Amino acid sequence: MKDSGATVSQLALLQQKLHSAKAALDEVNEDRHAKLQILLQFISHLSLACKGQNLELDNKLAKLRHNLNTFERVDEALPELVDVERLLKGQYYNAMVQLEESRACLTRVIRQLQRVKSAPEKLKKEINYFKQDLDKPFHTLWEYIPKVKQIIGFYETILQQQFGESEKLDVQPKHQQLAHELAQMVSEIEFRKDQREQVLQIKEVLASEVEIDCLLDAYHTILALLLDNIAREKSASQEFLFALNDALAAVREVVSESYNRNQRSFLLKAQLNREINTYVDNVGEAIIETEDIVALKAQLTTQLSSIRSTLSRKEALEQRDQALLLKSMETMRKELNELSYEANTYKERLFEQQKLNLLDSLTQLPNRAALEERMDMEYRNYQRHKTPLWVAIADIDHFKAINDSFGHSTGDKTLQVIAMALKNSLRESEFVARYGGEEFVLLLPDVAPADIAQLLNRVREKIKNIPFKFKNQRITVTVSIGAAQVIGSELINETFERADAALYKAKHESRDRVVIDV
Ligand code: GH3
Ligand code: MG
Ligand code: MG
Repeated sequence: MKDSGATVSQLALLQQKLHSAKAALDEVNEDRHAKLQILLQFISHLSLACKGQNLELDNKLAKLRHNLNTFERVDEALPELVDVERLLKGQYYNAMVQLEESRACLTRVIRQLQRVKSAPEKLKKEINYFKQDLDKPFHTLWEYIPKVKQIIGFYETILQQQFGESEKLDVQPKHQQLAHELAQMVSEIEFRKDQREQVLQIKEVLASEVEIDCLLDAYHTILALLLDNIAREKSASQEFLFALNDALAAVREVVSESYNRNQRSFLLKAQLNREINTYVDNVGEAIIETEDIVALKAQLTTQLSSIRSTLSRKEALEQRDQALLLKSMETMRKELNELSYEANTYKERLFEQQKLNLLDSLTQLPNRAALEERMDMEYRNYQRHKTPLWVAIADIDHFKAINDSFGHSTGDKTLQVIAMALKNSLRESEFVARYGGEEFVLLLPDVAPADIAQLLNRVREKIKNIPFKFKNQRITVTVSIGAAQVIGSELINETFERADAALYKAKHESRDRVVIDV
């Protein structure tokens, strides 16, 4: 009995222990299950990250994910794992081979790029750095993509450069010619003071190797400046015409007003004259009719005072007329003064405009400003090609005497004829300008030293042979010419001074001759 009691209590103890052990086992199982769940989820995510590299692997992994989702099917999934593992290993190997191949391919491309000699220095350096960097192996595919991008960038830069160059080379001679022609045209036009800085900049651009864009810009700017000048000129002419119109209208008004006033005052004066005549008639009649001296005296006094009053009314009327006339004349004078001021400013503008054209208004030859431009141009040509360039100064002999003997306007005509003769005696490439007064400057490129004296003597003879006839008198007009050749690196102004000294010599030797500075 005692034994069975002990057994019972022992059994109860064992049962209790078994319970505790089972509870502990359940707890361990639960924990393991939870961890396994986390692990399965992780595998599922990992397999998703591998997606997109190999179709077979993708399919296997999808199936694996499906089986691992349900805990009960884990056992079914286990054999699949072997396959997946094999595929994964293969994939890793493939990726490594591919990375290496990509690196080799990029190295080949970069070597080709290194052979492009015309690539800019900066780019060449960058390519070298890139190639050194390419010696290190890639660890992931992601390292490959930026490298490819960089290489595309290198190609782009080289292509852009080469396209640009080929375009430039294709059309450059034509551009250069156009730029030269534009520069010459611009030199023949004088621009307003406020435009000159801009024109100077354009000329500088045109003098260097000019690209099509710059050339088009230059054409556009010059055109805009010219249009602006035309518009200004037009509005100035319009302003002048309006002013002229206003002034004429004012004068017409004043004239018609004073005409009307004159008409009225003529009628009034006639009326007053009639009144005076009547009074005088009355006096006459009174003298004839009256015998009573006292009455006659009284009558005469009355009539005379009437005559006096009428006369003073007439005088007042005349004074008023005079004052009004003066006023009208003053208004008219003012109007005409204003008009003359307008005309003067307009004349000045015209004069400016003539200067703008760089032509001397009397002779229509290029003026001094044009000469300076041309000298610059010819001197640049001389510096570039070293072909001969001569500066000659021609001065009319005793010109003052022509003015003194035959008048200034004959002098002017003489200047015009000589200017024309000078111009006609020169070739297309040669240039003559009126330097001032009765002096002309000739620029003669491409004339050999052996030929210059003959050329200038021909010009001198041509002028001497012009059949001038002043006041029915045959007059011979001669010129003296001094010339010098641009030598070595001297400035053209120095050549000019030597030509001037030669002219001085010609004048002092005898006039009507050519002296060449040697
Ligand atoms: P030479 O050549 O021998 O030195 O004598 P010249 O009389 O020609 O030279 P000078 O310098 O003494 O006088 C030049 C004259 O030219 C003085 C001036 O009245 C005249 N002249 C200058 N410009 C004009 C012009 O536009 N029209 C006219 N009619 N005369 C001018
Ligand atoms: Mg002179
Ligand atoms: Mg003279």
